[in-house]
Amino acid sequence: MNLKHLIVAASLSAITFSACNEKKADSSEASSLPAGKKFIDPSNIDTTVNPADDFYQYANGAWMKTTEIPASETRWGSFNLLEDFNKKALQGLLEDAALVTDAKKGTPIQMVGDMYRSGMDTNAINKAGISAIQSELDKINALTDANSLVNEIARQTTINANPLFSFYVGPDDKEVTKNIGNLFQGGLGLPDRDYYLKADAKEADIRTKYVAHITTMLKLSGETDVDAAKHAAIIMGMETAMAKVSMDRVTMRDPYKLYNKFSLADFSKKTTGINWADFLSKINVKGQDTVLVAQPAFFEALAKMIQTTPIDSWKTYLKWHTISGMAGYLSKDFDQESFNFFGKIMRGQQEQKPRWKRVLAVVDGSVGDQLGKMYTDKYFTAEAKKRMLELVDNLQIAFEARIKTLDWMSDSTKAKATDKLHAFIKKIGYPDNWRNYTGLEIGTDYAKNILASNVFDYNYMINKLGKPVDKTEWGMTPPTVNAYYNPAFNEIVFPAGILQYPFFEKNADDAVIYGAIGGVIGHEMTHGFDDQGCQYAADGNLKNWWSADDKARFDAKTKMVVEQYNAYTILDNKHVNGALTLGENIADLGGVTIGYDAFKRTKQGQSTDKIDGFTPDQRFFLSWAQVWRQNIRSEEAEQRLVTDSHSPGEHRCNGPLSNFAPFYAAFNVKEGNKMYKPEAQRAKVW
Ligand SMILES: [Zn+2]
Repeated sequence: MNLKHLIVAASLSAITFSACNEKKADSSEASSLPAGKKFIDPSNIDTTVNPADDFYQYANGAWMKTTEIPASETRWGSFNLLEDFNKKALQGLLEDAALVTDAKKGTPIQMVGDMYRSGMDTNAINKAGISAIQSELDKINALTDANSLVNEIARQTTINANPLFSFYVGPDDKEVTKNIGNLFQGGLGLPDRDYYLKADAKEADIRTKYVAHITTMLKLSGETDVDAAKHAAIIMGMETAMAKVSMDRVTMRDPYKLYNKFSLADFSKKTTGINWADFLSKINVKGQDTVLVAQPAFFEALAKMIQTTPIDSWKTYLKWHTISGMAGYLSKDFDQESFNFFGKIMRGQQEQKPRWKRVLAVVDGSVGDQLGKMYTDKYFTAEAKKRMLELVDNLQIAFEARIKTLDWMSDSTKAKATDKLHAFIKKIGYPDNWRNYTGLEIGTDYAKNILASNVFDYNYMINKLGKPVDKTEWGMTPPTVNAYYNPAFNEIVFPAGILQYPFFEKNADDAVIYGAIGGVIGHEMTHGFDDQGCQYAADGNLKNWWSADDKARFDAKTKMVVEQYNAYTILDNKHVNGALTLGENIADLGGVTIGYDAFKRTKQGQSTDKIDGFTPDQRFFLSWAQVWRQNIRSEEAEQRLVTDSHSPGEHRCNGPLSNFAPFYAAFNVKEGNKMYKPEAQRAKVW
């Protein structure tokens, strides 16, 4: 919900794409490290593999062989294991809240409890069937012409449905103390424009199955076989037309391409039939005379489509997107068919996640700060926060020292880079100000609760207009196993959820700590200086602070990173997209480098004392490899190659290490080993 907007608005760079064994956590003493296990478990290592040939396989191979992906998951690794641990803790909180049936209206216990209980009440949900959204469908059915269509798009915007594009409020990239309205392309049901446009057999097969899926969903809504098939073809044609005019993901990595400010009057001239002053007033936005448009060409083409495509086609299109968007909250038939396509076919997921996990995601997305406060009150300690702050400070010192020694950057640009590094806002654990949900009514009807939450989120968002940007806001909820850098705030953020094993563990040795959470901290810091982040100044504004020569040398260095990752393949012959994953790859390279520098400043980093047969440096790299270990289904891996700005786990592990001299020394990497690269070919940025 709001998170999506914040991510789009500020192009947050997260450590991993947002995703999700039976043991219930019940106190802050519970550890996500399984009882009796070591921080670096020798039984996870595949000793038949030479670490100098494939460190990822060496460090994780035995674990990968013996670990099955649960049927309800599409990948399984360190992030998922910790996420699963957190979810069990949250399940306990939700069930406790749901047991309280006489809580005062509007209290966190009532809202969290009722939201959860309504989502778990499958009897009521199944009984309601499509009737849960009938009033929405009636509004679509009443449309008569292009004008009424634009009005309906406006109405849907105010319930956060965003069928064709989204309107969101966020900092103006070039004046980040001010909030501004933004327009961003949308309209596609498949995860990327490539699925509509690529000629490959794989994409063609997905298109056929997608049309079949739309047909089934329309039949479930009561259409005849003939009508449903006819309508599915129309919908596919309309989405394909929109895909053709959509901006691609690599182009969207350039913040200047997305920054197009228009007066409402000027933009209205480009979009025949849409008067934006009128549109903004219909979506309850007042006092704005400009708007930022991320993809003007998309909106120009869409406006033409609105005028030229028959209204009956639009009615069909909106009906489909309403049903599909709400399917997960409707009766079992809709929910199951939606899963069959988007889960099974697209991602290789064998069965649905347990219902409680899916409802948990909804509670997290709607009243997440209330649940998050319950979570941190019980599971997050002041001690963990203090330790994490020390680690972040140590990484910052190491990063500053590294900037000073760069041989490719002038002193004046170095001074500005250091200023930016010092200006980082550091957020750890949970927000200082919890969000206030006054006015949001949560009751017993699940679909109604979802709609109410969407409306509440929308109003919360547009109320930011005309007010100064609030830098205390968070873009993730506290239990999330993730972290991010936000360029407009120049901040690094680490939710409580990630501050546990295998990322963070109070009793672990420094090699383990710096190889894991140290690498994550270094990763987020480096995002401030990746191909996108480097274009934002210390105050968060999109504004150049580089000399032309320094920027040219930086670009030459990042080009090497693009080429390095372009050469990586998975699933036999599918290539990683080096341009799409550039920012994350620069951040991974910086993460291991800065994490290692900071580790070398610790007592253990300067010693040679072995633990379980491994030197401190070896343990540092084993910990790094442990973070990225995962098993993944081929369908999921394939979808991520198209949509995910992060490289596959094995390359997140091995890619940076094959550039990093201390790794060569630690595991004796020599010419002839597969991880080896001649020095001139090793990418070094920060
Ligand atoms: Zn990242």
